[in-house]
Amino acid sequence: MRNKEMLLVPGPTPVMDEIYDALSSETMGHTDPRFAKIFKNSLNLSKQLFNTDGEVFVIAGSGTLAMEMAIINTVAPGEKLLVVSHGYFGDRFIPLAKVFGIKVETLQAEWGQQISKELLEEKLAEGGFKAVTVTHVDTSTGVMANIEELIPVVKKTGALFILDGVCATAALEEDMQKTYGHPDYKIDVVLTGSQKAIGVPPGLGMVAFGPKALAAREAMSSVMGYYTDIKNWLPVMNDPVKYFATPPVNMIYAFNKGMEMVMAEGLEKRYCRHSALGRAMRSALKVYGMKPLAMEEVAAPTLSCIIYPEGLNDAEFRSKLASKGVVVAGALAALAGKAFRIGHMGNATEEMFVKALQIIGETLQEMGYEANIDAAVDEFKGIYRSV
Ligand SMILES: *Cc1c(COP(=O)(O)O)cnc(C)c1O
Repeated sequence: MRNKEMLLVPGPTPVMDEIYDALSSETMGHTDPRFAKIFKNSLNLSKQLFNTDGEVFVIAGSGTLAMEMAIINTVAPGEKLLVVSHGYFGDRFIPLAKVFGIKVETLQAEWGQQISKELLEEKLAEGGFKAVTVTHVDTSTGVMANIEELIPVVKKTGALFILDGVCATAALEEDMQKTYGHPDYKIDVVLTGSQKAIGVPPGLGMVAFGPKALAAREAMSSVMGYYTDIKNWLPVMNDPVKYFATPPVNMIYAFNKGMEMVMAEGLEKRYCRHSALGRAMRSALKVYGMKPLAMEEVAAPTLSCIIYPEGLNDAEFRSKLASKGVVVAGALAALAGKAFRIGHMGNATEEMFVKALQIIGETLQEMGYEANIDAAVDEFKGIYRSV
C-alpha cells in the first residue's frame, strides 16, 4: 500500500492503490468517447448506489458545493426551509440558505443528541415548509439521524426531504426508492462528496435528485446559480460526450474505480461492515477509558467523537499520534480540546485500525495513562469479525 500514514480523520479517508492508479492514468479530452464511457459508468453505479429513478449529478467541487446545489435547485428565494441540525455540518445549511434569500428555520439538537420526531412534527405544524434538510451523520458529533422516523414526519406535510450524506453515503443505506410507511414517503435528494465513506480523494460533489425534486426544479423558471443549476448539467449526465463545463477527468477515473470497489464489496455487506466497525472502534477505545460523545443507539458507523480521560492534553496526544503515523482530528466548538474525532469509514483495512489502536494505546502509556493494548485489540477484533 502506498499510504505511509493512517489518515483516520473523518474524511478524507485512506485511498487504496487501485484508486491512485486510476487517478494517475493519462488525461483524455473531456468529450472523448472513451472518457464519456467511464464517466457514464460511474454515473450508472452512482444511480445503483442511491437506487434512484431520478438523476445523479457528479461535478467538481466538495460536499459543500453539493449542499448548495441541493438547496438552490429545490427551494426558491422567499420560500421556507427547515434545517434539522445535529451539529456543525447541519448548521452549515443555515448561512448557506440565507445567502440565497431563503427563509430558514432551525431545530438544533444539543451536541451528542438527536432531534426527536415529536419535536420535528411540532415544528412542521407551523406549515409552509418547502423542504427539510437532515444530516445523515453529523461529522462534528458522530450522531446519526434516525431517518426511518424523520422521513414519514416530513413527507406527510408534502415537504421535500433533503439528506446530507457527506459522512454516510456508501456506509449507511440511502435508498431513494425505499418507502417509509407510505408509497410516496421517500428521500427526495441525497448529496455527498467523494472523500469520506466512498474512499476517493476530495474533489467531487454528487447530488441525486428523485422525481419530486426534479419536478421542483422544473417548476422554477430560474435558480440562483449557473454552475450549480442542475438543468445545465442534465444533458451532460445523460450523455457525457456533451459539454457544459469541463469535468475533472482524472477525478472521474478515480471516482469510477471507487464506485466499482463499493459495488464489488456489495452494499449490504458494506453497510454491515461499517456498522460493526463503528461499534468495534468505540468499544475498543472504552477499554482505554475513552468515552464516545454519542450514546451507542445514536452513534454513527462512520466516525466517532471520543471524550478524553480527565486531564489528557489534546494537542500533545494528537501530535504524538501524528508523529507515529496516525492522523486523527480535533473536536469542534465547545468540545475543542476535550475530545477527538476518529474516522472509521471507506476502504481502510482491519489491519490499519488494529495498528491505530495499538499506537493510541502506546501514546496513552507514554502520557502516563493506563492502556491495556491487548484487551483493546481483542475487543476490536471480536466485534469487527462478527460480521
Ligand atoms: C465533510 C462534510 C461536509 C462538507 O464537505 P466538504 O467536502 O468539506 O465541503 C458537509 N456535510 C457533512 C455531513 C460532512 O461530513
